[in-house]
Parts: sequence; C-alpha cells; structure tokens
Amino acid sequence: MTLAPTPASYVESLFSLEGKLAVVTGASRGIGLAIVESLASAGADIIAVSAGMPPGDGPARTAVESLGRAFTPMSADLSDRSRVAELAAELATRPVDILVNNAGMIRRTPASEHSDEDFDHVLGVNLRATFTLSREIGRGMLERRSGKIVNTASMLSFQGGINVPGYTASKSAVAGLTKALANEWADRGVNVNAVAPGYVATANTHDLRLDAERSDAILARIPAARWAEPSDIAGAVLFLCSRAADYVHGAVLPVDGGWLAR
Ligand code: NAP
Repeated sequence: MTLAPTPASYVESLFSLEGKLAVVTGASRGIGLAIVESLASAGADIIAVSAGMPPGDGPARTAVESLGRAFTPMSADLSDRSRVAELAAELATRPVDILVNNAGMIRRTPASEHSDEDFDHVLGVNLRATFTLSREIGRGMLERRSGKIVNTASMLSFQGGINVPGYTASKSAVAGLTKALANEWADRGVNVNAVAPGYVATANTHDLRLDAERSDAILARIPAARWAEPSDIAGAVLFLCSRAADYVHGAVLPVDGGWLAR
C-alpha cells in the first residue's frame, strides 16, 4: 500500500535538487548569485562561472559552502570564443544535471552610434556562449537522457527597447534558441526553457536607474509597482530546474511584475 505523501514530502519531491550538479554562468553577483543561492538551498552542488570569478573567497562560495554544498569556481570571459570552447570542453567531462546560462551584459548607445564591436560583444556573451555551452553540455545530458537548461531572456525578447539594439537582438535570439533546442531535445529527457526577467535592480540596470526620467517611466508601467530583486528571478529558475517543470519545454517565462500584461 502506498501512503499519501505528506505536503512536505510532496514539495520536497518536486523541488529537491539533492545530488544534482548545476553550472551557473554569471554567478558572481546580481541575478546569478541569487540563482546560486536558490539552487544550493535546494541541494545542488554548484560550478560557478563568471569573467572574474574569484578562485578563493567570494559571495558565491560563501553562500554555497554555508549550505554544505560543493563549490567549484571557474573564471572565463564568455565573449572570447576560444575560451568558451575550452570551458565547454572542460564542463562536458562532468555529469552536469543543470545548466543556467545567466551571464549577460548590455551596451547602451543609440542605434545610429552602436558600433559593430559593441554589437558583436553583446551577441558573443549573451547568445553565442549560451549556444556553445548548451550544445556541449547538452550532449552529455542527451546521452544520460536527463537535464535541465535554463537560458536568460528579457523583456527585450518581446519588445524593442531603446538604445540597446545589440542587447535586444541577443535576447530575442535567446528566446528563439530556447524554442529551437526544446523542439529537438524535449523527447530526449532534456528540458530547455528560459526565464525573462523584468526590470531588476542590479549592476546591469544601474545606468538606467540613474536616468530619473526613464527610471520613473519604467516604474510607473510596472503593475507590481516596484523593480524586481534578484531573488524574485531565482525562484522561477529553481522551478524550471526542478522536477516540477518536467513537462515544461520551450517556455520563455516572464518574471516581470506584470510588465508584459500592460
Ligand atoms: P550583472 O549584475 O551585471 O551581472 C552580470 C554577470 O554576468 C556577472 O556575474 C558577470 O561576471 C557576468 N558576465 C558579464 N560579462 C561576462 C563575460 N564577458 N564573461 C563572463 N561573465 C560575464 O547582471 P544581472 O542583472 O544579474 O543580469 C544577469 C542576466 O539577466 C543577464 O543575462 C541579463 O541580461 C539578464 N537580465 C537582467 C535584467 C535586469 O533588469 N537586471 C533584466 C532582464 C534580463 P563578473 O562579475 O565576473 O564580471
């Protein structure tokens, strides 16, 4: 006879990441750091990647080790194609269960002044590295018929934005890439989804928040009447990394305080 699960064990069975190994890019700060905290709290060991990820002490290591989980830092400039290839080859040798492609950057200049260098740089970090890491780590997941990949989209996966043509191009493409991978991998045990954060108070939006006019206009348009905190995004990522999302494929999940509903 099977006993009905207690509410606690039901929730635990859906959301526990005990024994899982998660790679999180852009894990040094902002949304990535909150994701690391969330996944480690659910039981995952963490490989934390960022451009300047400290090999020694840092907030990500402190968060993970204080939760009793294993922490491995890796430093890589994801705009550098050959470094991404090296990183991907190294990660492909490990039994990665979860990949969160969170690292990203933005260059703010009007389209008429947006240089090819800026455009390529933004696309390199936000899109190309996401694809290369997904392909190389995803291959092992396909062999094991198990894995979760969460990409990082944006409101600018749905809208055009202002003064950020490279960023908008990259994030619109991340949404498309997420669906493309999901279509190929959904019946092979691998879930590919994306989270689309609204306006989050991090370094990424520092300049925007300094522009009082833009900042007030944005706030006035958010039904929740506040900017997001990184932890607002991390909970949705935990969901997409968990067994609770086993039947979720190719979704681009807005976590935006209702922005897109307006
Ligand atoms: P953030 O605070 O600026 O942090 C960016 C992270 O990405 C850092 O860990 C940084 O590493 C890493 N990174 C940047 N360039 C890199 C490179 N070339 N190579 C390797 N790592 C690099 O940004 P955030 O706001 O948390 O954003 C995280 C993700 O959410 C990004 O994809 C962003 O586009 C997306 N997003 C943010 C918002 C928002 O409102 N903040 C909204 C929608 C989407 P280092 O610290 O080592 O430099």
